[in-house]
Amino acid sequence: MSNTKAVTTLSVDALPKIATGKVRELYKVDEKTLLFVASDRISAYDVIMENGIPSKGLLLNLLSAHWFNVLPTLLPSLQTHFITLSLPSSIPQAQHALLQNRSMQVRRLKIFPIEAIVRGYITGSAWKEYKVSGTVHSIPIAVGLKESQAFPQGAIYTPSTKAEAGENDENISPARAAEIVGQEYADRIEKLALSLYTAARDYAKDRGIIIADTKFEFGLDEETDQVVLVDEVLTPDSSRFWPADKYEIGREQESFDKQYLRDWLVKEGLKGKQGVRMPENIALETANKYREAFEKLTGGSWEDAVKK
Ligand code: ATP
Ligand code: MG
Repeated sequence: MSNTKAVTTLSVDALPKIATGKVRELYKVDEKTLLFVASDRISAYDVIMENGIPSKGLLLNLLSAHWFNVLPTLLPSLQTHFITLSLPSSIPQAQHALLQNRSMQVRRLKIFPIEAIVRGYITGSAWKEYKVSGTVHSIPIAVGLKESQAFPQGAIYTPSTKAEAGENDENISPARAAEIVGQEYADRIEKLALSLYTAARDYAKDRGIIIADTKFEFGLDEETDQVVLVDEVLTPDSSRFWPADKYEIGREQESFDKQYLRDWLVKEGLKGKQGVRMPENIALETANKYREAFEKLTGGSWEDAVKK
């Protein structure tokens, strides 16, 4: 990406701040609208690194915007929180360089407190569990699967809780998810998450990327009772992306996401530790992987995308 410094802290003086997440800052535009701003912070194993990845926030924001444009063409009934990449008029010109392309205006919604994870391929923690017990999130899975193989029954829904700041998300069964959000919404979220994954998986496969798994979040439009797709969507932060041309069953895959950083943390014994600084080469390699995924999925060059 560019050689500019990573933006790990930022403030938008013109708007009241609603929340700070691991990566994003949320500001109030009006009662129904938020400015959703992505910093260059990166977290792995639920811990934020001391240094960031230059331009990562721009990339996550523009890739999510791409999906918010594409997904409703694939699933016409889909509602999303995306409004526009344009900044609200209350933002002074002096802050445009910082915020443009890093921010989107979104509908402010009540967020369902579960993460709707969908897995198409067996890898990571799912593979570890399967090797021991033949299950994934306690769901029985066909015997004889090899690492990185697609689930023979199709993608599976494996929700988790949405942990409070500083705590780790916890894997839960679909039945537990129904206790948290109610059976009716749980069923709608599961169905929607699986349809979204399937549509996106096919779209990405045509562009040389395998989406091994991903996490969606949903909100409720209380006026219409619609379940709405929110948060970031199908980015390297929320998904495992594999290069389709290097895919081989029976081993781990190279990936376009945080795997590079995660592997380094594990190797150095730094997994889950606070205050870690990534060395230059790890930050650069991660940046390159993110950019490659962006270009493959959008079909455009990164340089052109950020010029706009
Ligand atoms: P946390 O906020 O728990 O640290 P995170 O690290 O994933 O989670 P970020 O991605 O940095 O958080 O921030 C995004 C936050 O905004 C998430 O808590 C998400 O649930 C919330 N969010 C996403 N879309 C909306 C929306 N349309 N309205 C209100 N909140 C939203
Ligand atoms: Mg998030």
